Amino acid sequence: MKPDTAQRVDFAALAEPQFLPAVPSANPPTWLGVMGGGQLGRMFAQAAQQMGYQVVVLEPAADCPAGQVAQRLINAGYTDGPALDELVAQCAAVTTEFENVPADSLARLAQQIFVAPNAAGVSVAQDRIAEKTFFVGCAEKSGVLPAPHKVIASQADIDAIGDELLPGILKTVRMGYDGKGQVRVASREDVRAAFESMGGVTCLLEKMLPLAYEISVLTARGVDGQSVVYPIAENVHRDGILFTTTVPGPNVSIECAQKAQAAATAFVAELGYVGVLCIEFFVLTDGSLVVNEMAPRPHNSGHYTMDACITSQFAQQVRAMARLPLGDVRQHSPAVMLNILGDVWFEGETYREPSWDKVVALPGANLHLYGKDDPRPGRKMGHVTFVGHTLDDAQRQFEAACAILGIAP
Ligand code: ATP
Ligand code: MG
Repeated sequence: MKPDTAQRVDFAALAEPQFLPAVPSANPPTWLGVMGGGQLGRMFAQAAQQMGYQVVVLEPAADCPAGQVAQRLINAGYTDGPALDELVAQCAAVTTEFENVPADSLARLAQQIFVAPNAAGVSVAQDRIAEKTFFVGCAEKSGVLPAPHKVIASQADIDAIGDELLPGILKTVRMGYDGKGQVRVASREDVRAAFESMGGVTCLLEKMLPLAYEISVLTARGVDGQSVVYPIAENVHRDGILFTTTVPGPNVSIECAQKAQAAATAFVAELGYVGVLCIEFFVLTDGSLVVNEMAPRPHNSGHYTMDACITSQFAQQVRAMARLPLGDVRQHSPAVMLNILGDVWFEGETYREPSWDKVVALPGANLHLYGKDDPRPGRKMGHVTFVGHTLDDAQRQFEAACAILGIAP
């Protein structure tokens, strides 16, 4: 049952810390809701259940990673009115694991129950134009800028592209993930062809920057306006998909880490954000920091926190949405997180079961599989986090696992 107090609180106003009333926390065993049934929802549900909460998932697909573990799965679309009403009736608070959940649905829920992150924060991250506009508007406070960019919505926009934006990357404004919905372009003619190939939807042209490496900053902010920042993670992508996250990042200088931390803190404060937010940055070859994009939820690059930090990113999301004090973000062990894609089930065309027994025999290996039964190339099936006394230890185990799984390290 939802606690009585949930009926009397103006939850929409809670996004504004200055109006913060003395709101009770939502304690276990109350129900928490999550929009989306993917692996992020699954790991969220597991963290919430560990703390004694009950979890209900709203997800259109019948068999989904989060639905396998939650106490209840509501099989319906994200805009389904009666399904949203059921969430309101059952939950003390709702969060999202799926970035593209319609912001209107979150706003509708927020009229009656506490929603974290709120519709405003999620909608900024859903739209690359809104996101870039936010980053530019916040530059004085954050100290960082996004890549030079231009909105491409028509042929006239393409005609007006300045040489300084080429070569570049044309990205769809909405629904991009894992490098999908983006095309590398060298000339105005390339942009024209790419724009047409994407069906003429509004895009953003970004200047191609000389990256030295990529980092992400996982942060969380509570309803009281206090925020925390996890150690800076260094990410390697392959074919547009996150391949590894290493923490502490071997290339990250103290100066870079401090700058990124300060920027992340400014972003969540400016958004009046409640919950876990992950911000991706580029570090350029000249050492400068450029903000790329943000995810309004726990993030793949934060999975290492489950095995290497005092409070995992999922437990932190539970705390933020339940209006509990945020947890300690300290890292107790150096870590390398390896994403497990469906590719490792295949040797050439031949299907084979990966040797998990050999992988978990490696010291410091923590296997996480998401309960998906049809491995396909490029599909995220799980991850392994290697922790060690030193980063070298963790890296050695990571390399050994790559050899076992047939992955080039
Ligand atoms: P995801 O959701 O998986 O993080 P995405 O599809 O939303 O990815 P981006 O993060 O914007 O897309 O880009 C994917 C990758 O492409 C980046 O991690 C980076 O390696 C590269 N990339 C993107 N933009 C630029 C740029 N302006 N200059 C150089 N490389 C870039
Ligand atoms: Mg990205």
